[in-house]
Amino acid sequence: MTEQSIGKQTREFQTETKQLLDLMIHSIYTNREIFLRELISNASDAIDKIRVQSLTNHDLLEGDPDFAITLVADEKANTLTITDNGIGMTYDEVVENIGTIAKSGTKSFLEKLKESGGAADSELIGQFGVGFYSAFMVAEKVTLITRAPGQPKGICWESTGDGTYTIEECDREKRGTSLILSLHPEFRSSENPEENFLNQYTLQRLVKKYSDYIRYPIKMAFTVKGKEGEADTQEVRTLNSMTPLWVKSKNEIKPEEYNQFYKDVFHAWDDPLEVMHTKAEGAVEYTTLLFIPAHAPFDFYQRETNTGIRLYSKNVFVMDNYQDLLPEYLRFVRGLVDSPDFSLNISRELLQHSNQLKKIGKNLEKTIFKTLEKMLEKDRDKYKKFWQEYGKAIKNGTYADFANRDKLQTLLMFPSSHSVDELTTFDEYIARMPAGQTVIYYATGKDRSSVERLPQMEILKEKGLEVLYLFDRVDEFAIDSLREYKEKKFQSISRGDLKLQELDAPKDKKDDEVADKENESLIAAVKEQLTGKVADVKISHRLKTSPVCLVSGDEGISLSMEQILSEMDNSMYKASRILELNPDHELFGVLRELHAAAPDSDNFKDYCELLYGQALLMEGLTPEDPIGFAAKVARLMTKPAK
Ligand code: ADP
Repeated sequence: MTEQSIGKQTREFQTETKQLLDLMIHSIYTNREIFLRELISNASDAIDKIRVQSLTNHDLLEGDPDFAITLVADEKANTLTITDNGIGMTYDEVVENIGTIAKSGTKSFLEKLKESGGAADSELIGQFGVGFYSAFMVAEKVTLITRAPGQPKGICWESTGDGTYTIEECDREKRGTSLILSLHPEFRSSENPEENFLNQYTLQRLVKKYSDYIRYPIKMAFTVKGKEGEADTQEVRTLNSMTPLWVKSKNEIKPEEYNQFYKDVFHAWDDPLEVMHTKAEGAVEYTTLLFIPAHAPFDFYQRETNTGIRLYSKNVFVMDNYQDLLPEYLRFVRGLVDSPDFSLNISRELLQHSNQLKKIGKNLEKTIFKTLEKMLEKDRDKYKKFWQEYGKAIKNGTYADFANRDKLQTLLMFPSSHSVDELTTFDEYIARMPAGQTVIYYATGKDRSSVERLPQMEILKEKGLEVLYLFDRVDEFAIDSLREYKEKKFQSISRGDLKLQELDAPKDKKDDEVADKENESLIAAVKEQLTGKVADVKISHRLKTSPVCLVSGDEGISLSMEQILSEMDNSMYKASRILELNPDHELFGVLRELHAAAPDSDNFKDYCELLYGQALLMEGLTPEDPIGFAAKVARLMTKPAK
């Protein structure tokens, strides 16, 4: 080969990488041992990659098909070396993968850390999985030597974590990657065996703890003390058991084992909220082990998380993050499916058309719903935790997943006027409904106090009718798409006619009708003044102490939905506005007098505008002409007080 090799170059890390390294090296961080888990898991991922690729291109194996990860602790050189015969990296890949932080997750990690004042705690590191860079928590210098299959030369990369690294081509016979950690003195001291990462027992313990289910052997030369008079001997041991947990039967597995497995495999930092382990035989055959993480990923609701289900075939890893098994809103579920029906080198495209997989997906959905229903029934505290993290996802499901709508709606929970600290399900709401109530009332707003102060709430409070509170953007979409629950329609307290008179005594009903009649001409005049602003003006039957309120019609979008849509840059849609006047309020009397005296007077016109402005403000909307509104208020305020 006449090719010139690329000589040694010194390069700078990307700014974010520098910051991350700085934190890794300098922060007081107690759980530094997790570096081993992170690096072994990278090694295992690298082997997964070559194994899958070699199924269609056997030459990649270069005659070395025995996948393994090897640990070598060299007490003389003070180095710990982690070697894999995985996919390795080319020159460009090293620069790309190791010198820069491409992942948005790591960037967000840095932001979170800054927010927390730089205290790198184990939870954060675990949560974000900062992988490779964790090597710098324990090493003064990190040397990476790697060769991708088919490449004539290897790449040698080195850094002390000071902001720069060197990279050059070098000779490397074997395919794969070696990571040589020149350990910091405190992590190779015999005074501190627990954190002496050259100590074979420490390494053995850590592999057992964090990497037991890694499916490739993690090997290490073990020194066995010789019997009296005999020399010590060395033997190569495989430190991990490699037995996949899911093949064992349920009653043989302790809860701690599930938890540990979950943490190892899915790089989680805390125990899962729920574990689901089922086996199916018959038309479709599979084993599944699913987990509901205790916490939603930090960016779960902001972007499409690319987590999915892991696929195995008879214990052999097939694919990670397969996303089409579960509907999008259930993507918080982590886990795996092992089925003999998956072929090892099947592509994602082919899988999408697999009927077997579709059936399995449907079954997993059923398992998840059943588990949640049971949780809601038997362990409300746990369900509340679930709801806190994933409630929004379930709500999304109600309008995204028609087929499962019936199951999903029983899982919904909302705050309500019934209790300040408990959430309520629809079933619980219905159980508390007084005789004669035929609909489920709801109110939208930004929080409890703003909803409870809505003028529209007064009458419902007075009549002792429970109202569901919708604070979340998605809530109204969900309720709108459900329309009704167990034949009870959902009714916004700010929409159309609440028909509350039907719950009244006949006498009160009569009074209302009389009030409507008497004020016909006044109402027509107010409507005239507000032409183009409101669709209608009505005498209100829902107000108590407030002079006005704004509601929307039964049809079309609501005022709150209009706000959401306009925030989403979609201001095409407008709710129909209906201004309701409270005939029992003092202001109504004043309005009537003004109208009777001179219906064309500026004063009457101003009052109409001001009432409308007030109604908008109470809905959290800005009067269309805030300056004009303020001027009218000022004028009124400067009139001599009576
Ligand atoms: P992550 O593993 O979460 O992607 P890391 O910082 O640990 O993040 O690693 C960055 C990338 O470097 C990996 O995605 C992978 O492409 C590459 N890499 C790391 N370790 C190895 C290895 N042992 N063999 C091959 N590639 C590796």
